[in-house]
Amino acid sequence: MVIKDRMYLNKEEIIAHISAKPFRIISEAADELGVEAYVIGGYVRDIFLNRPSKDIDVVCVGSGIELAKAVARKLGKNTYLSIFKNFGTAQVKSGELEVEFVGARKESYSRDSRKPVVEDGTLEDDQNRRDFTINALALCLNKDRYGELVDPFGGLEDMETLTIRTPLDPDITFSDDPLRMMRAVRFATQLGFFIEPDTFEAIIRNKERISIISKERIVDELNKIMLSPKPSIGFELLDKSELLPLILPELSALKGVETKEGIGHKDNFAHTLMVLDRLSRHTDKLWLRWSALFHDIAKPATKRWDKRLGWTFHNHNFIGERMIPGIFRRMKLPMNDKMKYVQKMVTLHMRPIALADDEVTDSAIRRLLFDAGDDIDDLMLLCEADITSKNPEKVRRFLRNFQLVREKLAEIEEKDRVRNFQPPVTGEEIMSTFGLAPSQPVGVLKEAIKNAILDGMIPNEYEAARQFMLEKAEKMGLKPV
Ligand code: ATP
Ligand code: MG
Repeated sequence: MVIKDRMYLNKEEIIAHISAKPFRIISEAADELGVEAYVIGGYVRDIFLNRPSKDIDVVCVGSGIELAKAVARKLGKNTYLSIFKNFGTAQVKSGELEVEFVGARKESYSRDSRKPVVEDGTLEDDQNRRDFTINALALCLNKDRYGELVDPFGGLEDMETLTIRTPLDPDITFSDDPLRMMRAVRFATQLGFFIEPDTFEAIIRNKERISIISKERIVDELNKIMLSPKPSIGFELLDKSELLPLILPELSALKGVETKEGIGHKDNFAHTLMVLDRLSRHTDKLWLRWSALFHDIAKPATKRWDKRLGWTFHNHNFIGERMIPGIFRRMKLPMNDKMKYVQKMVTLHMRPIALADDEVTDSAIRRLLFDAGDDIDDLMLLCEADITSKNPEKVRRFLRNFQLVREKLAEIEEKDRVRNFQPPVTGEEIMSTFGLAPSQPVGVLKEAIKNAILDGMIPNEYEAARQFMLEKAEKMGLKPV
């Protein structure tokens, strides 16, 4: 994750990171305007962490817009300048590069909004308004101080010790802009850092303030947590900081173990996070990771104690599928094919394991392929990640059966081409053959053809399907016209 001995870079190494032409041009323009200019924030942090970083933030003690204009003029053609007068910021795009310019500012907040009152300030004022010490580092671009690091809060040392800490009183920092609580958790997860105890305590104290943050911004941070190498770190921190029940109460509800007659069930929160991490080692697909997070979301709602069977979670996959739209709507997650995909994964997540448990029939495999379509490989990944049993014998048996399911899937697909299956006889053909308007018998015939193919009664071919349709229709008293 973090390569320790990269932390302290010498002056030449720092300069090498800011030696591209645009930096030199910003330097020239700032000197000509007689203003101080600094690269600041994430870009500087990522230089020391040896992480790739795209967007560059430049702060100048003076007008950011004037500096941006001068820079755009010097860069010449194929440069795009956008000015956001209301915010006092400007953006310069040139090729791959995107530079954001802002004048150094001082911010003061009121209780009920995360929109501060802004006035011109010094570099120090500007660093004071930053969220974490590691995000407050600035590198000077003026010629006589080129590459000089301005680090008033010991950000470099915090990077050395992998520490997330606010520059000022954490209670004020978090209360001013509660999004920073989510950012703290996100950076800890993304970078593998630790939130310093005073900072963490302040998150707990200020958790309720999260209510003034828009769902879109929260989801932005959740997505970044999700796409981290080990997303569980983020959800554990959200849980410990008591933010989780305020954001995703359904996940908090997975916590805990109940015992009856000496039999406990597993802690579904811990299980879910283990599945999420295990899956994340094999895929960086965002929505597959979300599917892992929600795969057992209906376990609390479906939990029953059965004298004979012990703990059961009957139909938790189907109930889970039905819970997804409500969660997505509330969280302002996309209510489109992404959501449908998550629903599909949740509803199908038991199928391969049920298959592996029983005898693996061709018919069952065809039906699975038909229901999963192109998402079959994703589904298999999720199901394999779902095996978190501590019993090595059980795990071996499951994995062996899964291997069998995978082989069968490949075999059936080769033979029958059922993935993204379309019945070879269409509804239109059924209607024209028997002179029917759209009606129930058309649906019955279509379904019968589909089942005949999936059950292996007939091959997945036109002639066979048409013959089957004619026979079936005759039994239903339908005659071709
Ligand atoms: P990344 O780009 O990976 O999300 P970043 O640190 O660059 O990380 P940005 O949102 O791009 O984050 O913000 C750039 C810089 O602006 C940050 O490094 C930080 O100094 C400052 N910043 C951003 N958001 C906040 C905030 N909510 N409160 C205080 N400072 C912030
Ligand atoms: Mg950034």
